[in-house]
Amino acid sequence: AISVRGVCKDFDGFEVLRDIDLDLAPGTTTCILGPSGSGKSTFLRCLNWLEEPSAGSIRIDGTLIGRSGEGKAARPMARRELARARTSIAMVFQHFALWPHLTVLGNVIEAPVHVVGRPRRQAEEEGRAILARVGLAEKADAYPHTLSGGQKQRVAISRALAMKPKVILFDEPTSALDPEMVGEVLGVIRELAKEGLTMVVVTHEMGFARDVADTIVFMDGGRIREVATPTAFFTNPQSDRAQRFIRRHG
Ligand code: ATP
Ligand code: MG
Repeated sequence: AISVRGVCKDFDGFEVLRDIDLDLAPGTTTCILGPSGSGKSTFLRCLNWLEEPSAGSIRIDGTLIGRSGEGKAARPMARRELARARTSIAMVFQHFALWPHLTVLGNVIEAPVHVVGRPRRQAEEEGRAILARVGLAEKADAYPHTLSGGQKQRVAISRALAMKPKVILFDEPTSALDPEMVGEVLGVIRELAKEGLTMVVVTHEMGFARDVADTIVFMDGGRIREVATPTAFFTNPQSDRAQRFIRRHG
């Protein structure tokens, strides 16, 4: 389980996240919704310490990430320790962020081999199995520039899966895609949800959020304004802000 307590973030005195508390149960999919600038991406980046919170803590199965020790004894995690802690939280970005000089399989096995130290043969075998799972078995030896956007994003998802993370974070995984490719990527994420992965998905795809999320988190102005089931959120939003948001996007 992941527990977030009192997370705040400011950039040069400008408060972007305020007092975020959230628990993510294993095997659940949480969709984060909210207007542009509400802090969704910053929150995801804080979860895996790509961005360091100004205050608060994040624990993965009880273990603090980013800091060792608490209170006065707190100190930043050593780089290696942080890299290791991060392997349990994978991230999939809007713009794929694939390594252009590596093949598809090369992208998928990079972190397992170089960060985790898995034997290359084993990583390749597992990598090919994952690629088959997302429908890309034939593309293992292709280079990213030869792929469609939807294929690239499925490679990015494969790369995340290859780490066998405890949670996968998705930041608007389909918003850089041509409309005809959105479905294939959401379909893969949907399958992963069925298989019981733990995921956090920032998305503007309301239909997807309604169908796939176990929990909807609605953010506005750097705060979590609502945590609800999709049914409750979409049929009976509690705040004016959420009502307005749904009217605009739903
Ligand atoms: P969108 O839906 O447009 O992606 P978002 O909800 O993901 O928006 P964030 O990207 O988290 O929002 O940004 C939240 C606020 O923090 C914005 O006002 C943004 O300008 C500000 N912000 C984000 N990153 C930085 C940074 N590195 N330096 C300064 N301000 C930042
Ligand atoms: Mg964002």
